[in-house]
Amino acid sequence: MIQMPQGKKGKVHHEIIGFRVNEWIVYRCSQCDYELHNNLTTHKVVIKNQKREITHSGTYQPFKIESTGEIRKRGLLGGNVH
Ligand SMILES: [Zn+2]
Repeated sequence: MIQMPQGKKGKVHHEIIGFRVNEWIVYRCSQCDYELHNNLTTHKVVIKNQKREITHSGTYQPFKIESTGEIRKRGLLGGNVH
């Protein structure tokens, strides 16, 4: 988790959620069209639609997309990762 200065006038903070797409971790903002792509192999970072007045921070949570119950049902928790 990256520390972001809070409460600065004129600064807006958006939460981004990371999810995995092949060898990329894609962080997408639900409040605007900001995207941050982080390549797992080359560690290349691509940022799309960055806005100067908006700060973005968030975390990559591999199981965020699916509910925990759904994963448990399919026996994926605690199992092998690819
Ligand atoms: Zn945003």
